[in-house]
Amino acid sequence: MRSKLVAGNWKMHGSRAAIQNLLASLKAELPAEPGTDVAVFPPSLYVADALVALSGSPVAVGAQNVCDQAAQGAFTGEVSAEMLADVGCRYAIVGHSERRALYGESSAVVAVKVQRCLNAGVVPILCVGETDEEREAGRTLDVVAEQLDAVMQTVAVGELSSLVVAYEPVWAIGTGKTASPEQAQDVHAFIRQRIAGYSEKLAAGVRILYGGSVKAANAAELFSQADIDGGLVGGASLDAQEFSAICRAAE
Ligand code: PEP
Repeated sequence: MRSKLVAGNWKMHGSRAAIQNLLASLKAELPAEPGTDVAVFPPSLYVADALVALSGSPVAVGAQNVCDQAAQGAFTGEVSAEMLADVGCRYAIVGHSERRALYGESSAVVAVKVQRCLNAGVVPILCVGETDEEREAGRTLDVVAEQLDAVMQTVAVGELSSLVVAYEPVWAIGTGKTASPEQAQDVHAFIRQRIAGYSEKLAAGVRILYGGSVKAANAAELFSQADIDGGLVGGASLDAQEFSAICRAAE
């Protein structure tokens, strides 16, 4: 039985004061023992504040990105997976579509980032998903397969037991357009089947999150699909009440 995970990606939003408020509201809104795994991903500068504010709470903290190069070294502006583990980050988002599109991250680089996370004991949340044009051209499954295969062919299957995949159709991110539960389920089932081609055991256990305009009003229906194991939530995770309602929908 896969436990559900709800992850809140705060992207580059907030200020120190706003994030302190959000953390305090989250602690007030979420039950002391949520019936689902919950994690938040603040901008990296505020990760330490979040770790302090959430210490002793069941809400984990993660990073939105990780360096592909090394554990230490002359890599200006970067943060390594080892550093994330050192301060207590449990997860890192890897290959978000904004990083693929705006910072030119290829699937090969994303695969190396997954490996770096695993080496350091950080759980990678690997984002995959097609653009509007790719869906219109009937290429959704090809695109997702390419993004997934890059990881499966780089990292030994035996090392991937903690991997989380997030299916995030790019056309649904921040647009208010959500994939229908059926559209999402079809791609999630494809992802699980594709992973089964490498390892059936891994496929049965891997958590596959849906991301793309998830909100309290659509979460329960999405999360009730057989292959949807929770959500990666952007905009709605900046509102503690809305995010808590999404977490409850996953229970
Ligand atoms: C995201 O950025 O990962 C995301 C899913 O954003 P939103 O929920 O705002 O669509």
